[in-house]
Amino acid sequence: MKSDAVGASELQSPLYDEAVAQFDRVADMINLDGNIHERLRSPQRSLVVTFPFRTEKYDQVDTVFGYRVQHLHTMGPTKGGIRYAHDVNFGEVAALAMLMTWKCAIVELPFGGAKGGVRIDPTVLSRAEMQRITRRYTMEIVNFIGPEKDIPAPDMGTDEQVMAWIMDTYSTHVGHTEPAVVTGKPPSLGGSIARREATGRGLMSLLPAVASHLNMPVAGSRVVMQGFGNVGRYAAQGAAEMGCTVIAVSDITGAVHNDTGFDIEDLARHVAETGGVSGYRDADELDPTELLTLDCEVLVPAAVGGVIDADNAPHVKARTVLEGANGPTTTAADEVFRENGVFVVPDVLANAGGVTVSYFEWVQDLQNYFWSEAEIVARLREIMNRAFSEVLEMAVQQRTDLRTAALIKGVSRVADAKLARGIYP
Ligand code: GLU
Repeated sequence: MKSDAVGASELQSPLYDEAVAQFDRVADMINLDGNIHERLRSPQRSLVVTFPFRTEKYDQVDTVFGYRVQHLHTMGPTKGGIRYAHDVNFGEVAALAMLMTWKCAIVELPFGGAKGGVRIDPTVLSRAEMQRITRRYTMEIVNFIGPEKDIPAPDMGTDEQVMAWIMDTYSTHVGHTEPAVVTGKPPSLGGSIARREATGRGLMSLLPAVASHLNMPVAGSRVVMQGFGNVGRYAAQGAAEMGCTVIAVSDITGAVHNDTGFDIEDLARHVAETGGVSGYRDADELDPTELLTLDCEVLVPAAVGGVIDADNAPHVKARTVLEGANGPTTTAADEVFRENGVFVVPDVLANAGGVTVSYFEWVQDLQNYFWSEAEIVARLREIMNRAFSEVLEMAVQQRTDLRTAALIKGVSRVADAKLARGIYP
């Protein structure tokens, strides 16, 4: 029996509604077994915690909410990032955990999906505060995670340093060093080479295949990048290396525009020195709301979710949208793109490079045997491009868009595994 529209009401949030609606649509299209359909609509295990956090004013103690949601245990351990954001909530984390399940299945990694969140604004915290919050959050979820159970990684607002603190806290708790408990660590602690660049590099490794499908050249394509963090920066770099012209870039400080193309290394230096893209000397400042609708061939939303909606989607001029962020396009915007023929490479495929190299990192940590950068980059490209061509072939065959085709692949793979395992007892 199908539960109410969003599954359990405690999960209700706009993103969860969208994730379930998307899944329902695909489940109906493939006539998914009703019991499996119902089972996959709700996450398998969820942990909601609150914990005390001493702020820099040492006598002030705040209560902080934290989450870790494991959507599916059928495929292996669960996998997914932890985000720090002032407005993150249970429903959002649950939605992102579900998306991780499909993402891992689309690139055929032996993981189910998970996601974590801590409701704080990381941009106003000192390094000491970040460390205290991270260590306490880790202790709250310490029995819930582990190399065979659930392996966190970075997501919005977290980075290599946060992963190092999680690894250290977990290792101290279990009494031995356990690098495989998180991925996206610094290489000195068993982190994989090229993990930091993996999402952006993986995304851009798809551009030649996308361009050939759309019959457009890669070199000379104009690229607009929303976001210049771990995803946007390396995607921009990859684009520039392939001869594209990156004409606009934004981040939380603003947006900058240069028709002749940015020198990405130089822009990255400016960001490291000043904290953001705004004020870059070789560019004009741009209203960030205009960025998404600039005239260009390739648009890469690589910041937050929900930025392309029914209002701005009709004005998007790009021929292709490569989704670096999770959930940047609303369902309504997706419909507009289908009608207007904008070729969307969905998040669950386009940004799967991050979790793919996370998988490599976990394998390397378990084996204590580390691969060369060349091996990692070659395997990443192979996995991304294989998944892309399978999904594209399915989209062409079924006369559907790439998001639908990718979800059909992911959901079918999970459903096959669930049917094969059966129900205990
Ligand atoms: N947070 C990233 C994502 O959404 C990476 C997850 C991982 O590496 O486990 O895909």
